[in-house]
Amino acid sequence: MNKIAILCSGGDVSGMNPAIKRFVEYSFNQGLEPYFVYGGYEGLIDNIIKKAVYSDVTGIIHRGGTKIYSARSTRFTEKKYRQIAADNLNALGIDKLIILGGDGSLRGIDIFFQEHNIAFCGIPSTIDNDINGTQYCLGVDTALNVIKMATDNIRDTASSFKRAFVIEVMGRDCGYLALVSALTSGAEMCLIPEIAYDLDSLKKRYLKEVEQGRNYFIAIIAEGLGNTKEISSWFETEIGFESRVTTLGHIQRGGNPTVRERLMAYQFTTYAIDALLSGKRNTVICYNNANFDFKYINEINEKTYEIDKDLLALGKSLLQK
Ligand code: ADP
Repeated sequence: MNKIAILCSGGDVSGMNPAIKRFVEYSFNQGLEPYFVYGGYEGLIDNIIKKAVYSDVTGIIHRGGTKIYSARSTRFTEKKYRQIAADNLNALGIDKLIILGGDGSLRGIDIFFQEHNIAFCGIPSTIDNDINGTQYCLGVDTALNVIKMATDNIRDTASSFKRAFVIEVMGRDCGYLALVSALTSGAEMCLIPEIAYDLDSLKKRYLKEVEQGRNYFIAIIAEGLGNTKEISSWFETEIGFESRVTTLGHIQRGGNPTVRERLMAYQFTTYAIDALLSGKRNTVICYNNANFDFKYINEINEKTYEIDKDLLALGKSLLQK
């Protein structure tokens, strides 16, 4: 029987469990024998590869994280360990892999493919939404909803007290999470690496707003700027508001997958398995303009991710109004 395995690599995201469930069910449906690799590339090297059964995936669709664990693996960056990983797969007769991971993980599996010709299809998975070539990565919608909930809660307390709340959100060097969160939670300020800002002109505007009765601020800052504490102090010294920093941190990675996330996980996984069955051997399933398409790693790596221009324009208007 044709054998296929799935693994999660790098930072985990909410949405991996629904993908794992769909993987098992759709593999059986297509006459494939599904396997789990536990603990990412570490599990490939250590041969923690087990046959999957339906009961493995009951009761997981609504859970964040990943039932089969994820990991970063320094060993996998070395050729000799990739050889061991290939030997393990060959011994089991597994010649197809589904990889859920960020751009590092996708790059790693492509190198593995070039060396050992074991076919893969990658599913871009990272809350940072920073993979070039796809407008959506698994995990993003749930992370945005977690940030929305936290920001709404902070707004409740902010509006009862004259304060500035400075909220730092994840995204590494990419401001996508911060920008979408600021727009959808009505934040007064949003600072991201992609948009230049001028604190002096913001100060003039904010002081005018305070004069007109504004008694709190919500500021959303992308972690990539590295200046969350400075912005908090700026509110105290320049605007005259007591300020509090909330760093959302890893709560953004957890949470029950949203409806959109579950559906995207199902679609990504279905298309990924179909791709392998139709002879695509080294692609990543991407989502662009409401359609799924496939890209090779060199297309993904050819430049860094850029936030959609229309979204950036909305963000600029937030800073410049
Ligand atoms: P992400 O996939 O979330 O971007 P990382 O960049 O940490 O996370 O990559 C996850 C794992 O992918 C690494 O720990 C390593 O095992 C593997 N990987 C990344 N880059 C390479 C590479 N150039 N060669 C082989 N493996 C790699």
